[in-house]
Amino acid sequence: MPKKKITHKLAFIGAGYVGLVSGTCLAEIGHSVILVDNNKDKIAKLKKGVIPIYEPGLEELVKKNVEARRLTFTVSLKKAVAESDIIFIAVNTPPQTSGKADLSYVAGAAREIAEAAEAYKVVVDKSTVPVQTGERVADTIKQYNKRKIDFDVVSNPEFLREGSAIKDFLEPDRIVIGVTNKRAEKIMREIYAPIKAPVVVTDVKSAELIKHASNSFLAAKISFINAVARICELSGANIDEVAAGMGMDIRIGKHFLQAGIGYGGSCFPKDVAAFITIADELGYNFELLKAVEEINEQAQQLFLLKIEQALWVTKEKKIAVWGLAFKPNTDDMRNAPSIGIIKKLHADGADIHAFDPQALETARAVLGTKITYHKNQYEALRGADALVILTDWDEFKQTDWKKVHRLLENPIIIDGRNMFQPQEMEQQGFVYHSVGRG
Ligand code: NAD
Repeated sequence: MPKKKITHKLAFIGAGYVGLVSGTCLAEIGHSVILVDNNKDKIAKLKKGVIPIYEPGLEELVKKNVEARRLTFTVSLKKAVAESDIIFIAVNTPPQTSGKADLSYVAGAAREIAEAAEAYKVVVDKSTVPVQTGERVADTIKQYNKRKIDFDVVSNPEFLREGSAIKDFLEPDRIVIGVTNKRAEKIMREIYAPIKAPVVVTDVKSAELIKHASNSFLAAKISFINAVARICELSGANIDEVAAGMGMDIRIGKHFLQAGIGYGGSCFPKDVAAFITIADELGYNFELLKAVEEINEQAQQLFLLKIEQALWVTKEKKIAVWGLAFKPNTDDMRNAPSIGIIKKLHADGADIHAFDPQALETARAVLGTKITYHKNQYEALRGADALVILTDWDEFKQTDWKKVHRLLENPIIIDGRNMFQPQEMEQQGFVYHSVGRG
């Protein structure tokens, strides 16, 4: 006889990239999910069926699960806690200027859960947090729960990537669950049972570390290949060939070996910084990761130098920029490399004309009136002295190069993502600069 599917009542505190996607996906596999956010606009939009972020496939999945009455939205954390048994904390953990993670939102959520809880709850930390945060969350719940309820704190870090978040959540490489007892382990296994992936059960601290260590390792791979790309430029070798040759070794793997302008986004920069800081606090000087950060910063500086070398002077030059989001298939601009590059070019007096398929609105919120925004990739090019590529959106691969050549004042392309083959671009009549190719 097939096993009966066990479903649970879940709440998600934080309806951002992680909370909204994870909550919706857990509703999709049968659970009842209440998403709570203290951003009233966000919840009002969600209630009207408007998705506040761009994530492929999310709108349809939200609609389907709302219609099936498995997914609801509220601004009342109290209501969400009362109506659920398992509460996921998926709030933001942004970096402070010191690099340390700002845990005030996690602490605030833990306190509010404690004040509202009237019976046994499992409190699951899905936000990315430094090791030992689980203990602090448990202390906070003990401190603020007057009814002295029984509860378990679990660490369940999230590995989804923006742009492919739904697939990543529903078909993950692994599910990591950090628990202090079998009771919490059983509940967490039931929640994820419909997802076919290996479940890694650890203690809470190890689960917290798996997340920081994984993201930092991936960031290290990017900085490593960017350092090798620099050596390619200085020696005349080709980073595409070097990376392909390295990646065929299964101990290394081909992923995250794309040279370019360095990593950005809401996770890698903050998680590397937070990992360095927590290591320092624990008494370990994580020099390797400090070098990873430094090389990442250099990648951007070297790219700016490439632009300057290609244009000689950037003052009063019109520069077209394709791609603003920190990576393709998202509208997320948090820590996008485009921000630093554009700000510097603007400060030097360049006139920036930018296009991004999804991130124009989010970019406007960060870059304001410093630049001119275009709704069409070709419009941004008219009369420009060069085209700079900062995000490798797939649609740029379908470009009509004859049109680009016609529209640009000077046929110069500086590609920070190595999207195209130098020889082909030269055959099309462009002066093409990219990263680490001789
Ligand atoms: P986000 O900023 O998009 O969303 C966080 C949400 O939490 C916001 O909507 C905010 O209003 C809400 N919030 C904060 N405090 C609250 C409270 N007390 N009550 C109700 N709502 C509250 O952040 P995100 O990108 O979803 O990231 C969340 C966490 O997940 C972070 O720790 C991040 O590092 C981690 N993470 C992110 C990704 C990613 O790709 N974005 C991937 C894996 C892990």
